[in-house]
Amino acid sequence: MVHRCDILVIGGGALGLASAHYLKASHPKLDILLIDRMPGAGQGNTAKSAAMIRNTFSSQTNLALTDSTIDFFIEVERSGFPLGLELMGYLWLMTEGQAKANNAAIAQMRNHQIPLRLLDGDDLRAVPQLRTSFSADDPEAAVMGLEGITLGLFGPKCGAIEPDRLVQYYEQRFLAAGGRVRYGAAVASLLLEPSGGAVGLPGEPLVWQDKRITGAKLADGSAIMAQTVVLCTGTWANQLLDPLGVDCHMKPKTRQLFSIPASEGSLAQLLHTRGFNDLQVVPFLILPRSGIYVKPVARERHFWIGCSDGLGRAYALEDDPQAEEGFFNYSLSPVLSAYLPQFAGQRPDRMWAGQYAYSTIDRNPFVFAEAGALVATGDSGSGIMKADAIGRMVAALYDYEILGEKAADHVELFNGRTLPVDCLSLTNRSVQPERFVI
Ligand SMILES: Cc1cc2nc3c(=O)[nH]c(=O)nc-3n(C[C@H](O)[C@H](O)[C@H](O)COP(=O)(O)OP(=O)(O)OC[C@H]3O[C@@H](n4cnc5c(N)ncnc54)[C@H](O)[C@@H]3O)c2cc1C
Repeated sequence: MVHRCDILVIGGGALGLASAHYLKASHPKLDILLIDRMPGAGQGNTAKSAAMIRNTFSSQTNLALTDSTIDFFIEVERSGFPLGLELMGYLWLMTEGQAKANNAAIAQMRNHQIPLRLLDGDDLRAVPQLRTSFSADDPEAAVMGLEGITLGLFGPKCGAIEPDRLVQYYEQRFLAAGGRVRYGAAVASLLLEPSGGAVGLPGEPLVWQDKRITGAKLADGSAIMAQTVVLCTGTWANQLLDPLGVDCHMKPKTRQLFSIPASEGSLAQLLHTRGFNDLQVVPFLILPRSGIYVKPVARERHFWIGCSDGLGRAYALEDDPQAEEGFFNYSLSPVLSAYLPQFAGQRPDRMWAGQYAYSTIDRNPFVFAEAGALVATGDSGSGIMKADAIGRMVAALYDYEILGEKAADHVELFNGRTLPVDCLSLTNRSVQPERFVI
């Protein structure tokens, strides 16, 4: 059976739903269908996310993508749609070496008017039991190469949202505007056909024929034909693009989260640290060693612990990655409890894993046109905090590349910031390098 639509969006995560919403908002008359192989919206990596959001970046590209998205989330909440937005702030805890290395980045953030506070050792005493120095004869600290903390960088316009609320927001608006969704629909392959129509020779499209992606073949044998296909399949993008010979420079890597109860004792005291925000919770903490992070989840009275480990963690696509208890026990827990002793001996009561879609070029997302289709992926673990900007960029790129409206060469993001519409593309990529890397 063959179905038809004007625009087919494949992938119902944060990026697919934001894109579908903005495409429909700018082209209400078009028949736009969003499909996903999962039974509902946002059940891929969006559901696995820590869903932290921050605007503390030195690069103007990252700043525009995240700051506008955060402003949009604030506005959505103000309008009465709860996204679970909690601006508890980010607190980077840095060694002397890190503080020096990030000097230029911090100056750049200040130039960009990002609200920041620099905290010294005295200020950091507000975080209960935080160890900011290790004695020279501390054998564990020496073995793990732990150094004292000399600087805290606090970003107040940073926090968290609930990603399921975000996808519900975009899905509800998309449906209300007449968009269609179909879940439980797995795409087996994309259809690549001659742009000018088939001539009846074997093996089409042939080398000399112009080609375009015209739709998708589903796992149940049916097909959906579309004027334009928009691919938002996150870490699974290569499965559909590789067979066509399209390289989107994205590699998936597993990321894990471990949830620790904090309903009583010293962990509850840490959770309800006062003085950093109106929520009276401790900020999201990033420890100096290995980028181990601690997310306060006050509504659950838990902490979520994670870490973006690099060397030694394979790039490999996994449909159902599992969290490794040993990773928590031997990699995370020793560092965590050295800096925050209240975590000593604590074990997670829940753990899960998902994957980041890493852009192997520069850790910035890709939004590009190829063979008449649009692709958004490669957000490198920042798809929630950039979701609104990326959705707007997909819709703007549709006008620019697919409809050929070449005057519309900039995308306007929520708070009036603009970016070149193809700055995240493969061919005209122009992203400022990010200096604030911990
Ligand atoms: C542990 C962890 C922590 C994270 N923490 C943060 C964070 O703090 N802040 C942040 O901004 N980001 C974070 N991220 C990243 C964030 O979750 C992603 O960037 C975001 O969810 C990407 O959205 P997406 O729509 O591209 O992908 P997804 O949500 O994965 O959506 C892709 C969809 O495509 C569908 N699909 C794939 N292939 C097919 C097919 N063949 N047919 C039909 N459907 C298909 C999938 O079912 C899926 O629903 C984290 C991720 C993980 C795993």
